[in-house]
Amino acid sequence: MVSETERDGETWYECDACGLMFDDQGDANAHEANCDAEDPSYIQ
Ligand SMILES: [Zn+2]
Repeated sequence: MVSETERDGETWYECDACGLMFDDQGDANAHEANCDAEDPSYIQ
């Protein structure tokens, strides 16, 4: 999941899984979809 964060008057988008920050929501969403840190539900 991607969290919206305000920092120094700018909006950042943070990947909740790995903590990476993006200044573009599209980039954040694209990363999140492929994030290796995300706990995959299909792996037990
Ligand atoms: Zn990530």
